[in-house]
Amino acid sequence: RYIYMNGQLVEKEKAVVSVYDHGFLYGDGIFEGIRMYDGNVFRLREHLERLYDSARSILLNIPYTMSELEDIIVETLRKNKLYDTAYIRLVVSRGVGDLGLDPTKCKTPNLIVIAEQLALFPKELYDVGISMVTVPTRRNRPDILSPKVKSLNYLNNIMVKAEANMAGANEALTLNTEGYVAEGSGQNIFIVKGKKLLTPPSYVGALEGITRNAIIDLARDLGYDVREEPFTRHDVYVADEVFLTGTAAEVIPVVSLDARMIADGKPGKETHNLLNHFRKLVVEDGLK
Ligand code: PLP
Repeated sequence: RYIYMNGQLVEKEKAVVSVYDHGFLYGDGIFEGIRMYDGNVFRLREHLERLYDSARSILLNIPYTMSELEDIIVETLRKNKLYDTAYIRLVVSRGVGDLGLDPTKCKTPNLIVIAEQLALFPKELYDVGISMVTVPTRRNRPDILSPKVKSLNYLNNIMVKAEANMAGANEALTLNTEGYVAEGSGQNIFIVKGKKLLTPPSYVGALEGITRNAIIDLARDLGYDVREEPFTRHDVYVADEVFLTGTAAEVIPVVSLDARMIADGKPGKETHNLLNHFRKLVVEDGLK
């Protein structure tokens, strides 16, 4: 395996960063997770746009153009002989500085691209669905650091995942400080009620997921009434169906929350329908 690091493809064992990198010292940086299906990188432009927006938001200048990043991704995939499916992780850290917080001390950001295979949940769970539990850790509010920024500061999400693990659930449901449903540990949430599909708006405290946006467009094309509105746990408890979306998770059904069964406790038919259409979309809709 070869990792792209600042202009070079280096062997995995040799791909190391300095302990003075502010990504390591402070979680100062941003990242993206992208997938390739059948040789197509899914929604690459959208992922790169989000990366550049995240960078601007945290005053980080990415010293590459978007098309240079595209070439770097392709080069990394080829070098690793990945031609069909792959998961691509792009990391841009603030770079090496001193022990102070001042980001202006970091002269050059570090760019790292890792390409490998990834399965977030075991395959069977896509058929039987996952359990979720509401966790104590709340999602950060948009007036702290925008949930739209995909920063390297994932301690909040990690606590959320740890809390779900300790409760014996497959995933965590996070609420914002007002009690509205935000998202999973690293996935967006949708609920189905009749022909209506609801997902929280980003300002509630959710990342604006690329998969989420793809599902919104796909569902609208299929005639679903899709709304981005805040909802509470009550709405999840009484939903017909619930599912999560994310680049790593793809589309996965949720069959229980807080040990309460959702509907009959089986993945729903609309979820199944959307999942099937999503699987078609990802192979038809990428950039070669
Ligand atoms: N929410 C969080 C906190 C995430 O880190 C992710 C990441 O991938 C998502 C949601 C899903 O977003 P996407 O569909 O762009 O992968």
